[in-house]
Amino acid sequence: MTSHPAIAPSHVAVITGGASGIGFAAARAFAERGMKIAIADRDAAALKAAGQVLATLVGEDNVLAVETDVGRREDIAFLQEQVIARFGKVHVLMNNAGMQPGSTIFGAHEVWERILAVNLGGIINGTQVFAPGMIARGEPALIINTGSKQGITTPPGDPAYNVSKAGVKAFTEALQHELRNTEGCKVSAHLLIPGFVFTPLAARGRTERPAGAWTAEQTVDFMLERLAADDFYILCPDGDTPRALDEKRMAWAMGDIIENRPPLSRWHKDYGEAFKAFVAKG
Ligand code: NAD
Repeated sequence: MTSHPAIAPSHVAVITGGASGIGFAAARAFAERGMKIAIADRDAAALKAAGQVLATLVGEDNVLAVETDVGRREDIAFLQEQVIARFGKVHVLMNNAGMQPGSTIFGAHEVWERILAVNLGGIINGTQVFAPGMIARGEPALIINTGSKQGITTPPGDPAYNVSKAGVKAFTEALQHELRNTEGCKVSAHLLIPGFVFTPLAARGRTERPAGAWTAEQTVDFMLERLAADDFYILCPDGDTPRALDEKRMAWAMGDIIENRPPLSRWHKDYGEAFKAFVAKG
């Protein structure tokens, strides 16, 4: 498989939420390609275990594990100092840390604040702290921000998560616009949109991977393939949802505005049948 030029032996990757799930699978995949790895996570025990696995792949000297709360700007600034002190530069920044504790519209303010601070604030912090140095270095580099389909079609049930991930989409689109209009800039931004991936975040008590869920490794393989093709929107399918169905769902969501339907009409009793017919039309 050909790789994006930023992903190469002895290059440096920084992954937040790198101790588990998609982030850890990405860290392993980058390590298998000979990259030096910095993982950042707020879970100290998982971080230590993940660092040990990575060290078996690339050697202890090429792994840095930094306890970090991505919602805290000072933590991200400390992470950047550590990475630069150890490795000197950054070729891949994957702002991936995220949480989904559940939320309701009128639920606790602290829950909303925390979800927004981590899922959206973490991505803004990571980008603002790391990107200027990556741009100034003038080498090909990637910023991959992990969003969600829930930030695009915003289904009912977890509004704070949806709002945070809608923010990640808007931020990353604006970031890529900025980067491509910056003279001499060789950094590009990409929005990773996972499908249903069997990780602690999505497992919700399940110990067996449901048939429809992808593994974190499948998701990362797909991401690497689409990065090589220089896609901005890395829209992952899964065992339940092929790309064609995602396209229909996204088109219907935009159609709410264009057709002047009620919001979230896909889940509105008067529009359920129309949505089904829209999907069936092929
Ligand atoms: P995961 O729980 O396996 O991994 C998330 C990691 O982020 C954990 O190690 C956790 O400790 C870390 N983390 C959480 N809050 C943090 C903070 N404040 N600072 C630093 N680290 C923090 O889950 P995952 O599924 O691999 O999630 C990775 C990303 O993918 C998340 O942004 C999630 O929203 C997104 N995502 C996942 C799915 C899915 O189905 N699993 C679908 C769409 C999007």
